[in-house]
Amino acid sequence: DLRRRLHLPRRDEFGELAATFDQMLARLEAAFKRQNQFAADASHELRTPLTIINLEINQALTQSQTPEVYRNTLERIQAENEQMTSIVNSLLLLARADTGEFTFYKEEVDLSDIALASVERLLPLAQQHKINLATGDLPELLVEGDSEHLSRMLMNIVENAIKYTSGVGTHVYVELTVEKAWGIIRVQDDGPGIDNDHLPYLFDRFYRVDKARTRSQEERQTHVIQPGGTGLGLSIAQWIAHSHGGEVYIQSTPGEGSLFEVRLPLIAQVV
Ligand code: ADP
Repeated sequence: DLRRRLHLPRRDEFGELAATFDQMLARLEAAFKRQNQFAADASHELRTPLTIINLEINQALTQSQTPEVYRNTLERIQAENEQMTSIVNSLLLLARADTGEFTFYKEEVDLSDIALASVERLLPLAQQHKINLATGDLPELLVEGDSEHLSRMLMNIVENAIKYTSGVGTHVYVELTVEKAWGIIRVQDDGPGIDNDHLPYLFDRFYRVDKARTRSQEERQTHVIQPGGTGLGLSIAQWIAHSHGGEVYIQSTPGEGSLFEVRLPLIAQVV
């Protein structure tokens, strides 16, 4: 037949090709949309601190104030500046993750070292929030990976547990266990918990359950300078876990607390 002689694909092959192109186009379109949304969200997040800095500067320049008031203004500007730095650093990291440019170190890492170091670094924050931050069993568990990034992953999770749990008599508990070939890091808090509706989106970039509460205008005005949420911490933690062949799981009951569980493949032990 003519098609075959001219080396043209058969009709059904045309159909298949067209369907494949359609799928590719749809995927590209979705990727563009995500990229656009990401840029829009990033701009929005950066605009808020920029607007506040602008307002603070204008006020300071147009009104004659006491040194004390100027000092407070500078402190608020500094806090907004730190917030922007943290957002930009996270964005740079995620951008490099997206292009696959990021290379992790591959070394033998003991998860108990990571857990201990993270908890130690976060003790002051826990004290500030009047939270009892404690560790349970921390056996030696060896994984292959990048200790700096594994620490960042765990710090993001423990810091959240502290940030969202508050008050005398509350707890954040970190422990390690083994299940078959997996090392498991558990971070348990008895904070407010997370409604199940939100769980599927928690790892999305910029997703926050309660944007207003994370960093309210009131907090800003009463000078309680809190580390503001960026909504990027869990996406970064998940990316690090995935890059190490692992996974992050969340169980949460509103009113009772949350359990974050990171599973990482252990280095096989020669028996
Ligand atoms: P953020 O910078 O806002 O903390 P994350 O990506 O780290 O961003 O977390 C996303 C959202 O998940 C948070 O804004 C918070 O609403 C919710 N969340 C995370 N960890 C906890 C927790 N331990 N208890 C309650 N809510 C949490």
